[in-house]
Amino acid sequence: MKDFSKYQTQELHAKDLKHNMHPFTDFATFKEEGSLIMAESEGAYVYDTEGNKYLDGIAGLWCVNIGYANEEMGEAMAEQTRRIPYYSSFGHLTTPPAVELSEKLVSLAPSNLNHVFYGTGGSMSNDTAVRMIHFYFNRLGKKDKKQIITRTDGYHGSTYLAMSLTGVEYDHIGFDLAPDLVHRVSAPNVYRRPDGMTEAEFCDFLVDELEQKILAIGPERVAAFFAEPIAGAGGVLVPPAGYHKRIADVCKKYEVFLVSDEVVTAFGRLGEMFSSESVFGFQPDIITCAKGLTSGYIPLSANLISDEIYDVISVPQAKGAMFTHGFTYSGHPVSCAVGLKNIEIMERMDLCNHVKKVGKYFENQLKEKISSLPIVGDVRGSHFMMCVENVANKETKELLPAEAEIGNRIAAKCEEAGVLIRPLAHKNIMSPPLILNVQEVDTIVETLHKGICDVQDELI
Ligand code: PLP
Repeated sequence: MKDFSKYQTQELHAKDLKHNMHPFTDFATFKEEGSLIMAESEGAYVYDTEGNKYLDGIAGLWCVNIGYANEEMGEAMAEQTRRIPYYSSFGHLTTPPAVELSEKLVSLAPSNLNHVFYGTGGSMSNDTAVRMIHFYFNRLGKKDKKQIITRTDGYHGSTYLAMSLTGVEYDHIGFDLAPDLVHRVSAPNVYRRPDGMTEAEFCDFLVDELEQKILAIGPERVAAFFAEPIAGAGGVLVPPAGYHKRIADVCKKYEVFLVSDEVVTAFGRLGEMFSSESVFGFQPDIITCAKGLTSGYIPLSANLISDEIYDVISVPQAKGAMFTHGFTYSGHPVSCAVGLKNIEIMERMDLCNHVKKVGKYFENQLKEKISSLPIVGDVRGSHFMMCVENVANKETKELLPAEAEIGNRIAAKCEEAGVLIRPLAHKNIMSPPLILNVQEVDTIVETLHKGICDVQDELI
């Protein structure tokens, strides 16, 4: 039995309000409502300080792929901490876990990606990709080839540079972006594609739009295109069939590096360790990943880099010159030991095949049970990465007014019923731990169904 008496919820709330500044928070409602303070966990479940149990339909934040409170992960962390808890990777230094994890990641990644660079989060990983690509073109003397293209509603993180890459306009409000660097093309939003366009025509449009954008900027000035295989935080946007392969061809044609942001999609969420090649059939020049790499147990991100890029940036500029990029915690031994253990557990549990079956069941159940509800415009996603888009009018796809707070209200109903589902403006997002069984999938689907129906009734 878990003991929750040790948690002083009121005191924690007071301290939290006073000193703990939360990321991505609405300070007004935060000050009124305070936080839900999570204290314990097991498997696919988390508990708040008062002992309320929740089935976590969002795996923390697309993170906890192998589920919570795994003893082996704790052991791996403790063992590495006892051996050597930290050493730098700068220069010629490293530690055994960093070396072993690099070899393991390369064995799982597309065959052209043979080099690994570590950071501590997805944003850092995307920043690193930009710096490496710029360095690459500098080394080749192509000093003007620096511009980056990203997509509306793509999410790439929250550092200054990663947020400049991010195309979710809501996230830019009130902040500045890096000047003169990032250009945008359309989101591959099949549901909201222009009226009268088939999915295939929409794909043609997106591919052509990217090519025209490169030509307009000038191919000699465009360095990279960033895309998530399925855009997550922008609303789980599954692109039209064939999109990624054709985008990759356009990039190749103009010597534009393709960075596949797999911060969410790697490590099993779509039933493969990496989805770029295995699910979508394209070879990126860099994969950025984080989250599921350690199932969120400890911060770690990795850039998987092509031979083509490595072979240029690894040649010193001059005798004694260095590649001056890196972080104190690059290749952190405890993080890497946890990453290795996480992958070992995933492989032993055959989690990717589990996702292929149970994730597909989740996808099908959501589509079957939720799509027909009057306020549901779209149910989309793949395997354990799903989204419900709520609307005022199914025909016109018109949205409910923002004051209806539809996503928040549905998520609140689900939370009351013991299931966590993420609100994202008018949408609700699900990305559960990959260990979910069929009964737990049914619980999420039934709870969401009831939550939507209850809110629907309140709207009438
Ligand atoms: N890229 C994608 C696709 C993400 O979903 C996220 C975070 O959700 C990031 C990058 C940024 O990762 P982090 O928050 O670890 O910096």
